Amino acid sequence: MKQKRFILPESEIPTQWYNIQADMVNKPQPMLNPGTKEPIKAEDLYPLFAEECANQEVNQTDRWIDIPQEVREKYAYYRCTPLVRAYGLEEAIGTPAHIYFKNESVNPLGSHKLNSAIPQAYYCKQQGVTNVTTETGAGQWGAALSYAAKLYGLDCAVYQVKISYEQKPYRRSIMQVFDALVTPSPSMSTRAGKDILTADPNHQGSLGTAISEAVELAMSTENCKYLLGSVLNHVCLHQTVIGLEAEKQMAMAGEYPDIVIGCFGGGSNFSGISFPFMRHTLLEGKKTRFIAAEPASCPKLTQGKFMYDFGDESGYTPLIPMFSLGHDFRPANIHAGGLRYHGAGAIISQLRKDGLVEAVDIRQLDSFAAGTLFAQAEGIIPAPESCHAIAAAIDEAKKCKQTGEEKVILFNLSGHGLVDMTAYDQYLSGTLANTGE
Ligand SMILES: *Cc1c(COP(=O)(O)O)cnc(C)c1O
Repeated sequence: MKQKRFILPESEIPTQWYNIQADMVNKPQPMLNPGTKEPIKAEDLYPLFAEECANQEVNQTDRWIDIPQEVREKYAYYRCTPLVRAYGLEEAIGTPAHIYFKNESVNPLGSHKLNSAIPQAYYCKQQGVTNVTTETGAGQWGAALSYAAKLYGLDCAVYQVKISYEQKPYRRSIMQVFDALVTPSPSMSTRAGKDILTADPNHQGSLGTAISEAVELAMSTENCKYLLGSVLNHVCLHQTVIGLEAEKQMAMAGEYPDIVIGCFGGGSNFSGISFPFMRHTLLEGKKTRFIAAEPASCPKLTQGKFMYDFGDESGYTPLIPMFSLGHDFRPANIHAGGLRYHGAGAIISQLRKDGLVEAVDIRQLDSFAAGTLFAQAEGIIPAPESCHAIAAAIDEAKKCKQTGEEKVILFNLSGHGLVDMTAYDQYLSGTLANTGE
């Protein structure tokens, strides 16, 4: 029998995260204080983030950063996750390519987001923080953080992008099961929300508006920290557990990827699957292609400009050096809520400038066609976000069909779509469109 799933024991949960900044020839430029235009130091971030996260954010020297033992014990609830050879998908396409996916959908909350929610909540708890707040789009980050906050006995308040709050009621329910306070954003509960609603009472919300509100709440609440689910360097760092495991599992399969693919919102799951492999590109000159799959309606890596931009709509965050569509960009209401973000994070943006990262734009209908084919072939219904990675993987596998090349393709399955079935309903009934492209 051909081996389909490559499984590592709990003892193989990584003991350290991989900090790619240490190995980059051109380091990411620093974040800037928007008032003084001075580079941000870790201490400048302490009022907002857990101190350890702030330290990790600016760490450009330590290649390996220890994962606290308590965090590894929580990771053990669902890690190591399986690496799967997608024989069914290969057959459905008729490709000679070998397709593998890392299945990050198999955890209590259904997406890779938990990999960073757990350490962030842990560092807050260690420091005596009592309250945490955040934004969420489709709700995966909010759900992951609500659960992680519960694990450590922290009170959690989540601003959810209004359109997603309405489109995906069950994610809200999931957050509420874990006792989180969930508010649709923009809301009247913050200065930022009031300003946005005064200018446009029908504003449907975006990750940018929700971040503004969460940051404001964190700054105005005693003993409260703001936790972010993507974009920032420390979040990408935590996600490297994905690629570190995958590296060992690919070795078990006796292969090394020619192409590594992840869908792209703010860059955390793409970083997670890519960076451990990219280290061999940086240090040993291995030739691997790294492809970020973003939605055609929010194409920061292909159409955006490299600039210093705010991470949020109202301009509360430091200025981040990144590919961006502008912090006031209003993404269309696509179902892949987790990909509706205007910017790309400092590390990925630098790697893209340096030619290490490629990007492709996927249209909404093509993403669902790919996701449906994958579901039929492999039995897993992918998250609308993950469908973008699948579509890019299928495109590459089809090229191999034409050329006859037996390339090894690895993509990250960032989450399952079982709470996104309204989106699939619309796709199947033909009412879904390619909006905003
Ligand atoms: C949040 C999310 C994404 C996008 O975020 P990244 O930080 O770019 O990874 C992708 N897939 C799923 C399932 C998500 O929840």
